[in-house]
Amino acid sequence: MTEFRKAERRRRVQRRMMKLVTVMSTVAAVLTAGYSFVSEGALEPKEILVPPLVITVSEEETPVGSGPPPAAMKEPAQSTSEAAAIPAPPTYLGEFEITGYCSCDICCGKKDIKLTKMETVPKSGYTIAVDPQVIPLGSYLEIEGVTYRAEDIGQAIKDRSLDIFFSSHEEAVEFGRQKKDVYLK
Ligand SMILES: [Zn+2]
Repeated sequence: MTEFRKAERRRRVQRRMMKLVTVMSTVAAVLTAGYSFVSEGALEPKEILVPPLVITVSEEETPVGSGPPPAAMKEPAQSTSEAAAIPAPPTYLGEFEITGYCSCDICCGKKDIKLTKMETVPKSGYTIAVDPQVIPLGSYLEIEGVTYRAEDIGQAIKDRSLDIFFSSHEEAVEFGRQKKDVYLK
């Protein structure tokens, strides 16, 4: 009887040991899996070695759940909407009477240096003369999809009239006098 009980006890201990070994190896496998997963994520695997699963879970779940990440996602969204709002739609100024001019003596009078009122070198299809009382110098205007810069003034340019700069007097004359819609950019 006693021999039988001893043997029975030994078997029980063995079974417990086997269970323990199984659990231990499972834990080891999980830890190894956790570690290898983390090290693939390249997030300082040495520090994560001790409690791998806890850190893996917390680092993986923070971006998904609530907390700082949604706020971090909101900020770029706001800045992109602000960036998109920067090029505001052009303001319609009305219909202007537009003429052409160039840097010749006829258009600008006899001068040694023929710069614009803003002291820039006038550019064809870009420089425009305005009435600075109506349009501040330096403003950008849009006429039929083309962007001009109000860099110059002219004696005859008053109220709703504009003078577009051309590189030759012929082109300026050919442009003549036209009425066009003007937008302030
Ligand atoms: Zn001219």
